Amino acid sequence: MFNSLSDRLTATFKNLRGKGRLTEADIDGTAREIRRALLDADVAVPVVRAFVAQVKERALGLEVSESLNPGQQVVKIVNEELVGILGGETRRLNLAKNPPTVIMLAGLQGAGKTTLAGKLAKHLKAEGHTPLLVACDLQRPNAVKQLQINGERAGVPVYAPHPGVSSEFDTATGDPVSVARDGIAEAKAKLHDIVIVDTAGRLGVDTEMMNQAANIRAAINPDEVLFVIDAMIGQDAVNTALAFQEGVNFTGVVLSKLDGDARGGAALSVASITGKPVMFASTGENLEDFEIFHPDRMASRILD
Ligand code: GDP
Repeated sequence: MFNSLSDRLTATFKNLRGKGRLTEADIDGTAREIRRALLDADVAVPVVRAFVAQVKERALGLEVSESLNPGQQVVKIVNEELVGILGGETRRLNLAKNPPTVIMLAGLQGAGKTTLAGKLAKHLKAEGHTPLLVACDLQRPNAVKQLQINGERAGVPVYAPHPGVSSEFDTATGDPVSVARDGIAEAKAKLHDIVIVDTAGRLGVDTEMMNQAANIRAAINPDEVLFVIDAMIGQDAVNTALAFQEGVNFTGVVLSKLDGDARGGAALSVASITGKPVMFASTGENLEDFEIFHPDRMASRILD
């Protein structure tokens, strides 16, 4: 991911190297190149516009620096703006003062929520936490079973209405809000310090699905609501993210499928448009394919 964007930006900045002073024409040309590179990487148009305007304004106002040549200064500006868009400092999970910490997952069907649930559970367990997974995706017939498999692989228990016997589980009439509440009660009773609540998604955003997610959110008052988005989604990322922002007011973003050949635009667009930080990245189908997202490292990777 970001390979092509990275190559394009590197080539652009190469042209600035060795220049003693940047003219307005240099800056215009560079801004144009950055704009094209971002658009080709599938970054949403309004995000590109705001980003380039900001870089240009700062580049035009550059003071002569003793330590950096103008080309390096522009790279530094682009780097800082990228870090800013991606959420600034690495954002850690907000843990509840009174456990359990409740983490709700939201996103479209197929985004990678159930997979992420297992990954996050495994990661938190390795950090010494005692997570409980709660299966509230009652929409997709196999979701409860899939979460149970992931829970088993992560060595983390799963709360579902009929734990361990998912075939008996009536997905048609089950009430995900009650399951979420009961799951948290179970976590309290069994002294789990973190609860991860998997919820249902649809292939596209629809009112019923969003209402269900909003109802779960209202019932369990989570410490974090993580919006999981497939990095391959491209230009659709913005509308999907805005719908979830309005529906469940998520607190952080998880990018999934970063191992694919996504051009990276979704990452930059979603974080920028919603103002919410990217917190984790999913990079494959195995539970180990999981990373804490560091905006500064990602920006450096893009500008490498
Ligand atoms: P959900 O509907 O949001 O719960 O999505 P799932 O967790 O079921 O994921 C949908 C599909 O994408 C499954 O086949 C997963 O194995 C796959 N998947 C999830 N995360 C990743 C990832 O980071 N990389 C790749 N390559 N596949 C993923």
